[in-house]
Amino acid sequence: MVGAMTVAARLRRRKKIDGPDAADLLAWYDRHARILPWRARRGERADPYRVWLSEIMLQQTTVKAVGPYYARFLLRWPTVKALAKASLDDVLRAWAGLGYYARARNLHACAKAVVERHGGQFPDDIGTLRALPGVGTYTAAAMAAIAFDLPAVPVDGNVERVVSRLFAVEAELPAAKPAIRELAASLLPLQRAGDFAQALMDLGATICSPKRPACALCPWNHACAANARGDQETFPRKAPKREGRVRRGAAFVALRGDGRVLLRRRPAKGLLASMMEVPGTEWTHDFKENLARESAPALRADLRWRRLPGVVRHVFTHFPLELAVFIAPVPHTTSAPKGARWVKLGDLRNEALPNLMRKVLVHALDRPPEFPLPPPSKHLVSAQVCRAACADALPPCD
Ligand code: SF4
Repeated sequence: MVGAMTVAARLRRRKKIDGPDAADLLAWYDRHARILPWRARRGERADPYRVWLSEIMLQQTTVKAVGPYYARFLLRWPTVKALAKASLDDVLRAWAGLGYYARARNLHACAKAVVERHGGQFPDDIGTLRALPGVGTYTAAAMAAIAFDLPAVPVDGNVERVVSRLFAVEAELPAAKPAIRELAASLLPLQRAGDFAQALMDLGATICSPKRPACALCPWNHACAANARGDQETFPRKAPKREGRVRRGAAFVALRGDGRVLLRRRPAKGLLASMMEVPGTEWTHDFKENLARESAPALRADLRWRRLPGVVRHVFTHFPLELAVFIAPVPHTTSAPKGARWVKLGDLRNEALPNLMRKVLVHALDRPPEFPLPPPSKHLVSAQVCRAACADALPPCD
């Protein structure tokens, strides 16, 4: 940080550039603030519930993706008290497709905590906010600033980019995070903390983009060290990514003659906890595909699982995953093993299916008409029907 600030200071001295002034950013924000469904209009008080809901949803997700989810949640659970009364299962279902499902579980736990500990009112101090489930440093700062106008600067990826460019921060992320937070806090004005936080977010999202930032339109271009040097796109500096080792496994899609697919619930703890899935193997570094069928659900003695060509790839935060997909048609009289149940293809949209499982189902059901299903029966479904039902039932995968 010291090195970075020295560069910025040196540049200012040499080029006689002023430091970034919050007033310039606020004047720009007054003209160009984004209209967002969760944002209070000028003169209105922000609703802490809406601020919190949107901030949790927006973590690792785009404004565009969050919009419909936010609207549905608000319609169904208009207050934190209503959300606290909902079942976790309903919340997970409503969240399905938005990814990072720990957020949904924490959302539910936090709503309950706000009701039990604070009588249904979000606390208006940063320390107490930070103690709520799923509320980290960033969310607590965002809520403090936006919902309560307290002096705090939430620093997410967009703000990190803006600040690291303004001060030409040479230290690499993630080690540079504390220094960037400190620099961001040094910009805070004495008034309008909430507007300032949202203005910084808007600047990062609309002007100071990762590639080709629109510096000519930036209210801080005269004060930006990276702009003066002309190497804006090289900030923030990042340590080379170390991608986790690939894990592999198998997924088993059993399709019953009456157009139902076998699903089970994942364990309550760990990755994708409590979400629904098709049965499968463990995901390991030393997965042996030739032994995979031994882990298939025991539905019938004569069942033959067919391996589909290709694999389904999915990248979790810490590791990439490749799943081999096996399919098997079974008669409509087949009962579900313990802990699993048959779900109609048309009802898949109501299940808490993570994106990984959506990809698996689309991969399995988007097949040529070669499912040898029990003939001829009113329960017979062809692969085309499966494909159409699946496409109808599932929103597009990420
Ligand atoms: S001048 Fe350009 S690089 Fe600097 S903060 Fe503004 S948009 Fe970002």
